[in-house]
Amino acid sequence: GIRQEATNKIVLDLEKLYDQASEDLAYVGRYARAIQQQRGDYNGRVLSIRADDLRALAIVYDISPSGLIERLSEQGVLVADPRAFFGS
Ligand code: C2E
Ligand code: C2E
Ligand code: C2E
Repeated sequence: GIRQEATNKIVLDLEKLYDQASEDLAYVGRYARAIQQQRGDYNGRVLSIRADDLRALAIVYDISPSGLIERLSEQGVLVADPRAFFGS
């Protein structure tokens, strides 16, 4: 099928987020756990989140959404290509 530009899809690396991310990203971790619970999506290594939720989280951190993306990226919790996890 047609694949959309990956640019806007926010995909979190859950292992990095839960185990290795700094205290600074604790709210993101808590939010991701809540989303996993709501979806019943417990077994993934990655989690795609809504752009709306990123905006809400950015407000919590008092930065812009792109600023939060940058912070997530710096901490290595953002997955550029989730398919790379599965070797396909
Ligand atoms: P909902 O928002 O009423 O969505 C119902 C179902 O529609 C979801 O069930 C999912 O199967 C599908 N759905 C809605 N939006 C999307 C989307 O952008 N992409 C895909 N692939 N499917 C979508 P699901 O996953 O079991 O979630 C149940 C409920 O949990 C959702 O009801 C919503 O209230 C909440 N939820 C789940 N994930 C998120 C999230 O990332 N952010 C927020 N704010 N709520 C979420
Ligand atoms: P993709 O979005 O690039 O995701 C690649 C793989 O990352 C997925 O393979 C899945 O194993 C994992 N992944 C991404 N987001 C999540 C998440 O929130 N939770 C979990 N547990 N895993 C996640 P998969 O499932 O074989 O899907 C392959 C491709 O099929 C996806 O590529 C996407 O393009 C499409 N796809 C799968 N499910 C949906 C869906 O519900 N909605 C839409 N629009 N596309 C979907
Ligand atoms: P996706 O499934 O590929 O959906 C891409 C975009 O299409 C979503 O971006 C949203 O703007 C729109 N969309 C898809 N399904 C629905 C729907 O049922 N209702 C509405 N109102 N819009 C829909 P968004 O919101 O930024 O979400 C990004 C990705 O996060 C989604 O990619 C999906 O992988 C994941 N996601 C978001 N919400 C849910 C959810 O409720 N359940 C699950 N399982 N995955 C979700």
